[in-house]
Amino acid sequence: MDAVNPATGEQLAEYTEDDDADVEATLETAVDAFETWRDRPLREREDLLASAGDVLRENKRRYAELMTEEMGKPISQAVAEVEKCVWACDHYAEHASAYLEADHHPSPPGTSVKTVHDPLGPVLAVMPWNFPFWQVIRFAAPYLTAGNVGLLKHASNVPGCAMALEEVFREAGYPEGVFQTLLVGSSKVEDVLTDDRVRAATLTGSGPAGRAVAETAGKHLKKTVLELGGSDPFVVLDDADLDRAVETGVQARTQNGGQSCIAAKRFIVHEAVYDEFVDRFVDEFESLTVGDPMDEATDVGPQVDPDLMAQLHDQVEASVEAGATVLTGGDPLDREGAFYPPTVLTDVPEGCPADAEETFGPVAAVYEVADETEAIELANETRFGLGASLWTDDRERGQRLAREIDAGCVYINEMTKSDPRVPFGGIKDSGYGRELSEAGIKEFVNRKTVWVQ
Ligand code: NAP
Repeated sequence: MDAVNPATGEQLAEYTEDDDADVEATLETAVDAFETWRDRPLREREDLLASAGDVLRENKRRYAELMTEEMGKPISQAVAEVEKCVWACDHYAEHASAYLEADHHPSPPGTSVKTVHDPLGPVLAVMPWNFPFWQVIRFAAPYLTAGNVGLLKHASNVPGCAMALEEVFREAGYPEGVFQTLLVGSSKVEDVLTDDRVRAATLTGSGPAGRAVAETAGKHLKKTVLELGGSDPFVVLDDADLDRAVETGVQARTQNGGQSCIAAKRFIVHEAVYDEFVDRFVDEFESLTVGDPMDEATDVGPQVDPDLMAQLHDQVEASVEAGATVLTGGDPLDREGAFYPPTVLTDVPEGCPADAEETFGPVAAVYEVADETEAIELANETRFGLGASLWTDDRERGQRLAREIDAGCVYINEMTKSDPRVPFGGIKDSGYGRELSEAGIKEFVNRKTVWVQ
């Protein structure tokens, strides 16, 4: 496995993939670790998670640089990602006991009936490159603390991050085998998932990868959580605070080089504010600093690799051929590295790639609508259902419309974001299940009913 710097094309390091014997040894170690880890008092598992947070905090700069080198996110955003990982560790270290407390039920006289939350065993986590630390900590913090053990199959282009995450848990003092990295490609996932020792799987990634894992897991009756792609609407109504809507919309579309599942991708703007919104939005897009991701001043770094950038450009070109207008950007930058400029499209025809597919890069599709009814209809005209952001000065109106949007979460006057305290996940082609908060920690537990007569 090669780690390549997308800003320069330079090979950073080469890693040897695990062979079948390595995978077998990892699975055996996981099963052995689970036998004692599951019985470890929850308080101790919480303390270890707090220590993992400390390791992340102490090595923040090193881990951030590793991410930036391997996948090109601007360094300031990489630092923020490590800080968010610390937050998730601290959150579950503090709240896991309360989340996992037994639920008591109305019981017949003379009995006591409750539900306890037991771990399931080794959980396979298939993870993407775009938030290489956060996606992993998002599953590991709750699931390990619930008493499961983790097997990370990270994206093949971030092997250094995968190994660093194993280091985090080792340095924090976790017993051997509680968190392990499998350095394997996607073709090995089916074998691992069908192994009886693996009890469940979580995947964050694209639709095809999610479907493949769901199919295999379904055949073997294993529980899955799928966090897949999105084409989130960002709805700006006639009474929106335009200053904040423009500023937040730009960030929501371009952060992480636009390579985020919950990035705002379709901007649906009321005709009363459309012209002003578009003018200001384009100005802001043009003022972003695109360049060296190691530079603190950079807003948008390179795309993760030239092939994925070419796919993004194909989507833009096909959309333009179908009738879309490019207001800014629209062509890869003529320089070393996989750099794509922040791009704004208008007149986006229904069904063209910018409208119907996920665009995984800094490309915004902007639509004009006559009223809120049309805005909600357009927001829902997608096979995805991850997040949505809605802008109005009338909070009642916002909450009423939120109920009409087909998405796993709706943020009113805020960009869609994940937060350890709040459930996160999608519907439709964006997947199923929830991560984070109490909902997340309860995804991979046996909710065991205990009836005492
Ligand atoms: P990806 O190509 O689907 O890869 C994600 C992971 O799945 C990688 O570890 C990959 O391994 C593995 N994989 C790929 N094909 C597979 C298959 N057929 N069977 C089993 N595993 C397979 O996605 P990506 O390009 O890394 O990430 C971008 C996608 O993730 C976008 O669609 C984005 O929206 C989505 N995403 C969703 C969320 C969310 O929370 N909903 C968060 C972040 C990203 P290899 O690297 O070895 O191929």
